[in-house]
Amino acid sequence: MRLKDKVCIVTGAGGGIGKATTLLFLEEGAKAAACDISKEALESLEKEATEKGLAEGLKTFILDVTNREEVKKVVDEIYKTFGSIDVLINNAGVTKDQLLLRMREEDWDFVINVNLKGVFNMTQAVAKYMLKQGKGSIVNASSLVGVYGNIGQTNYSATKAGVIGMTKTWAKELTLRGAQIRVNAIAPGFIRTPMTEKLPQKIMEQVIERTPLKRIGEPEDVARLYLFLASDESSFITGQVIGIDGGLVI
Ligand code: NAD
Repeated sequence: MRLKDKVCIVTGAGGGIGKATTLLFLEEGAKAAACDISKEALESLEKEATEKGLAEGLKTFILDVTNREEVKKVVDEIYKTFGSIDVLINNAGVTKDQLLLRMREEDWDFVINVNLKGVFNMTQAVAKYMLKQGKGSIVNASSLVGVYGNIGQTNYSATKAGVIGMTKTWAKELTLRGAQIRVNAIAPGFIRTPMTEKLPQKIMEQVIERTPLKRIGEPEDVARLYLFLASDESSFITGQVIGIDGGLVI
């Protein structure tokens, strides 16, 4: 049990990677506070957790990470319910792809709000408790695209690069008074989830061809990386951006 009795918040917990992560955390003994904007996605997570006999440690929260008031309320409630917050997985994310000249202001604002401001909102609300406890682990979802850019993803790549900046800043800032708070980011390549389902088959085939491990990633691949960074196994790792892409970029 690698997360025995650790209280873990996962955002975007009803999505592809978020659901696999929440289920894996429950299997590893965590108490999971699963947050998502989608009620249906959370219901599907609850159903799967029940089928696997893991529902006992699960509590779900309908939460829009862009709403600061709501975030504060839910995080306070999670702390009151469980008595601690050990892990925050800032996993919620969206895309709204368009070439630069065609990108509308609302497409820019939408993606910036969820992927960047959402991570800020969640971390600000949770850091208060982690600082009080003197420990914690925060893992943020960046992307390969945040490091290398991608055609049609001006908004998304800006947010994922921004997440790396916040990760490194918080790794320095949250330890100022000696707290053992670690902050890391993951940078997945292409993972099979509802987010990448929208991409044309031809693009996915090209990606697989260019990937040394000759496949795209599964949500469970990413869940295991989140698990490692959430757990004490990574106790001397902070401020890092860990790639998980089958070798697509070497
Ligand atoms: P997904 O679309 O399957 O899941 C995202 C989840 O976030 C959904 O359940 C959605 O309801 C939720 N969500 C959206 N807006 C929200 C909001 N405002 N508040 C709370 N929840 C919200 O996506 P995924 O592929 O599982 O991606 C998870 C994370 O990994 C994202 O941050 C994504 O950018 C990142 N990522 C994914 C890939 C990939 O190939 N799938 C690659 C790199 C990075």
